[in-house]
Amino acid sequence: MNTLIVYTHPNPTSFNHAILDNISEGLKKAGHDVRIKDLYKENFDPVLHAEDLAKLQTGDIPERIGKQQEDLLWAEGLVFIYPLWWFDRPAMLKGWFDLVLTNGLAFEYSDKGVRGLLKHKKALVIITAGGSKQYFIDTDALQLIHRPVTDGTLSFCGINDVTHRIYYDVANLSDDERADILKESAILGETFAD
Ligand code: FAD
Repeated sequence: MNTLIVYTHPNPTSFNHAILDNISEGLKKAGHDVRIKDLYKENFDPVLHAEDLAKLQTGDIPERIGKQQEDLLWAEGLVFIYPLWWFDRPAMLKGWFDLVLTNGLAFEYSDKGVRGLLKHKKALVIITAGGSKQYFIDTDALQLIHRPVTDGTLSFCGINDVTHRIYYDVANLSDDERADILKESAILGETFAD
């Protein structure tokens, strides 16, 4: 399966990057064609500028958005890897969605309401968090962690087979616990198409 990994973390030695390495190795081992979109590395401009919006509203896709959309449409499977920042995705990734998931390509409005147009077979969303799972339970915020991406974005655009994993409290885990997460990441890559 052609698989696009959209990776968002500024630090190439981060734990998120280790997850990226393991998932991409797992995917390749299983025979998938993998493209990695490392938004910080490619210095992606996440701002939907006034001129971008004006062009989009006339059906004219700015070149920089069109290039991103080519990668999106090349893929049959999508993987997102990012740290939780303020209970949501980093602004860089939010901006990628703002720019790339355009009306007419990712969704459309009709008499029957909104309809998702993306045909990707599946998506995997991996999130690391600084807080403990208990903190999110106590604050009744567990659903807030993944729903903006899994439901508010991917399912909205028609991708209904979405799996997510949240790794809590990553800074305070033992070395063994972090090694287990990396092993699981490789397995998630290997079994992505199952
Ligand atoms: P890192 O800091 O890179 O690493 C975590 C630990 O893993 C470190 O001990 C590191 O030594 C170790 N490590 C790194 N590489 C490896 C490796 N290859 N193998 C084994 N161990 C390794 N958290 C919340 O819960 N809720 C929030 O709303 C929230 N908002 C935030 C907003 C901002 C702007 C920022 C900067 C952080 C926020 N956080 C929040 C915390 C954030 O989610 C965590 O810092 C992040 O998920 C940790 O992931 P990381 O990849 O940056 O880890």
